[in-house]
Amino acid sequence: MKYKSTRSTDDVLIDSAVAIKNGLAPDGGLYMPQTVPSITKEEIESLLECSYAERAAYIFSKYLTDYSINEVLSDSTEAYSKKRFPKGAAPIHDIDGKVTALELWHGPTCAFKDMALQIMPRLLSRALVKTGEKRTALILVATSGDTGKAALEGYRDIPQIKIKVFYPIDGVSRVQKLQMQTQEGNNVDVVGIYGNFDDAQSGVKRIFGDAAMADALDKEGAFLSSANSINWGRLVPQIVYYVSAYCDMVASGQISLGERIDVCVPTGNFGNIFAAYLAKRMGLPIEKLICASNRNNVLTDFIRTGTYDRNRTFHTTSSPSMDILISSNLERLLYLIAGSEKTALYMEELAKTGKYTVSQEELAAIQESFTAYFATEEECFASIKQAFNENGYLMDTHTAVGYHAASAYIKETGAARRVLLASTASPYKFAYSVLEALSGKTEKGELEALDALSALTGTEIPAPLSHLDEKELRFPSAIEKEEMPKSVIDFVKR
Ligand SMILES: *Cc1c(COP(=O)(O)O)cnc(C)c1O
Repeated sequence: MKYKSTRSTDDVLIDSAVAIKNGLAPDGGLYMPQTVPSITKEEIESLLECSYAERAAYIFSKYLTDYSINEVLSDSTEAYSKKRFPKGAAPIHDIDGKVTALELWHGPTCAFKDMALQIMPRLLSRALVKTGEKRTALILVATSGDTGKAALEGYRDIPQIKIKVFYPIDGVSRVQKLQMQTQEGNNVDVVGIYGNFDDAQSGVKRIFGDAAMADALDKEGAFLSSANSINWGRLVPQIVYYVSAYCDMVASGQISLGERIDVCVPTGNFGNIFAAYLAKRMGLPIEKLICASNRNNVLTDFIRTGTYDRNRTFHTTSSPSMDILISSNLERLLYLIAGSEKTALYMEELAKTGKYTVSQEELAAIQESFTAYFATEEECFASIKQAFNENGYLMDTHTAVGYHAASAYIKETGAARRVLLASTASPYKFAYSVLEALSGKTEKGELEALDALSALTGTEIPAPLSHLDEKELRFPSAIEKEEMPKSVIDFVKR
């Protein structure tokens, strides 16, 4: 299997190891496999008896053909081990007889980004060997919270890789800050920035674009690499859990083999739901993909009308990981639906005017697979309350946006299929808002909210989020944004 850019019309084809090492294509496009491989009913049946790591290796072997099956099996076995996912990698839970939650938050940072960021560093490490790279890859991340911690946990102590994370010192939650400041590992660094997330992000972007910096790093035997969600190495692991969930639904008798399901995904960057779409294109029996948004409903409008328009008010919501107006991975869908020439044009329009409109035929093709709903803050909180009071199921704010969308879809269409709902974070990761949704109370501080939520619901605080305030603060420092380049060089020299 070879890879190409979503924007390129010539046939520059590369191996998956190169795609994972490069992240972004030189023309600004995203890497896509040349074709979407297929999975048959018989293959799904053969996966029923397999462990999560074995299922992962099987799917990887279709996409990452320059990796051996032993390599991907050994990496998956380590990434999805009991040590890292004590309750299993991606267990399913029947919420109400119609909607099944796919819990993607049993990893080290309690959010779904662990599913990709536990395996991708291992794939990158092998990519360095496969491409003859002798230098150290330096992963630079600017984070508003969740991604930074998940990346730190994924890349810690991986050979030939170092990771440095910048975050706004007063722009993340107390839990997020403590999670990062207490990070363990010998190849990690975390630095706060006096400024907001944009300051951190533009600082990182400047460093990536700085030729003198590249030279200086090269002299130290290092080069820059990125861990963000447009990297193919983050996307391919996300296909696995949809296949795995389908197997588990069959094995537990929720559906029969071959029966079609709908899949609902709370969406920001369009990465997670696009992975579900690839699973559908491969042949997994999925009928509709339900795209769920919060008030930043740019994707709801796009899927319903064919116009993507990010010229709109940005809302800060209780599902912050979906507060996004530029859904980068949507480019991959455009590529599959409209081809690379049109994709390049739409992306050019987006950069120039902040919007574009797909053709009627393209919209029809999108609507054949996708439908879209969004939830207001009130609807999100009501979903949390309803799921807990009626079904005893505790969900976080992002999952609740999805649950609202799934319920609205079932009500509106009368669809009788099972809906698989991607549950993207532990309720404890957003305890403050979940507590507010359940009790109407907001006065508690964040760490207090964890205890209060546990007391109210009789559920347990996940180990990675408990006793955070008792851990050693390894990285309490913060710097001015102008000091970022020097701080990067100092870290590489260490
Ligand atoms: C990142 C994130 C999302 C959005 O995922 P995308 O792949 O960007 O659509 C949803 N929920 C949580 C908890 C997240 O961290």
